[in-house]
Amino acid sequence: MKITKHEGRLAVPDKVDIPFIEGDGTGPDIWRAARLVFDRAVGKVYGAARSIAWQEVLAGEKGFTTVGEWLPDETLDAIREHVVAIKGPLTTPVGKGIRSVNVAIRQKLDLYACVRPVSYIEPVPSPMKEPAKVNMVIFRENTEDLYAGIEWQAGSGDAEKVSRFLKEEMGVDLPPGAGIGIKPISAANTKRLVAAAITYAIENDLASVTLMHKGNIMKFTEGAFRPWGYEVAAEGFADKVITEADVYAKHDGRPPEGMVVIKDRIADMLFQQVLLRPDEFHVIATPNLNGDYLSDALAAQVGGLGMAPGANIGDACAVFEATHGTAPKYAGQDKVNPSSLILSGAMMFDYMGWKEAAEAIRRSLQATIKEGTVTYDLARQISGAREVKCSAFAERIVDQL
Ligand code: NAP
Repeated sequence: MKITKHEGRLAVPDKVDIPFIEGDGTGPDIWRAARLVFDRAVGKVYGAARSIAWQEVLAGEKGFTTVGEWLPDETLDAIREHVVAIKGPLTTPVGKGIRSVNVAIRQKLDLYACVRPVSYIEPVPSPMKEPAKVNMVIFRENTEDLYAGIEWQAGSGDAEKVSRFLKEEMGVDLPPGAGIGIKPISAANTKRLVAAAITYAIENDLASVTLMHKGNIMKFTEGAFRPWGYEVAAEGFADKVITEADVYAKHDGRPPEGMVVIKDRIADMLFQQVLLRPDEFHVIATPNLNGDYLSDALAAQVGGLGMAPGANIGDACAVFEATHGTAPKYAGQDKVNPSSLILSGAMMFDYMGWKEAAEAIRRSLQATIKEGTVTYDLARQISGAREVKCSAFAERIVDQL
């Protein structure tokens, strides 16, 4: 049976159909491993009361070789219809008229929030002195900013046309022959992203939401992101949030019990602060480009992208995904680390309200890494670790459920 969504609330049947995209390159290896963990965790936690019927949908190389399309409409329709889906990594076709299948999925399904939780799993090697203090969730706007793809190549007729318009109509002189990109940031897209970040903080009992922006320089784009963020906090969540300014002005620097603090930080300074005082940040809401940089920088603080889960979430549906690429040189070797996809599945179960399964997966994955059973990528960094294949890593997680 299908998941449905009414007025923002999910209804999840106990016997649920979930579409999956296996992914290219190492995708089949990590999907096989992840699916085993998902099915066994659900079986262990809920017995026969709950189960998943996985529905394969095509995209990427498998879509192209099977039905001649990198992203078939049927795949998008199936995700819309089923509300929740999960995917492995997809190859970006070079020069095939589609910029990136991943970006196309996000845009076509209007998955406007890229959500990346970042937390530490002991004993994964980390460059931080106290990596356990890194525990944040990034909400990155997914649909606009410089990533909207509105750009013109240096020297092209279109670039010259835009350049001429800017000179003649707006009095702006660009260097001759410049490439040009446009950075749109809108109130509507900012507000729905910040609202999603605040809702997440409230639902998960997190202490703060930080608006990350470079508004001191880009005044009408990132500079507007900040007040729009505060506006949506005041308009939609007045009884549940408090601004950092009010915490100091009215509460002696101590937030009232149960209130989420809304604060803002300039992007470059935030990059320093997440290194120096990571425990002061809980949820970070940010425009697209900043969010891309920050997600990977934070993932590095807890041991790199191989471990980082992610989701792209919109009002109508959500797609959970491994955050790394297809690692094609390891394809078919049953070698790479499936943790990113497994932890993305745990996020998916949280989103569906199957929190016990999510917790069981996270606990068992942590126990497996902690006992030193790891794939090659972690084995080369942890002395004394026992290196196992991708499938054996998943089997060991299942043993510990
Ligand atoms: P990549 O596939 O992420 O691989 C880069 C390196 O990261 C690998 O060689 C490997 O490092 C390490 N790595 C990646 N996944 C790993 C895993 N599961 N376990 C352990 N180590 C892992 O990046 P890429 O080579 O730049 O991109 C390859 C293709 O993936 C491209 O077509 C790209 O467009 C696509 N891509 C897709 C997504 C997505 O679907 N969301 C995201 C990024 C890239 P070592 O070599 O050091 O072992």
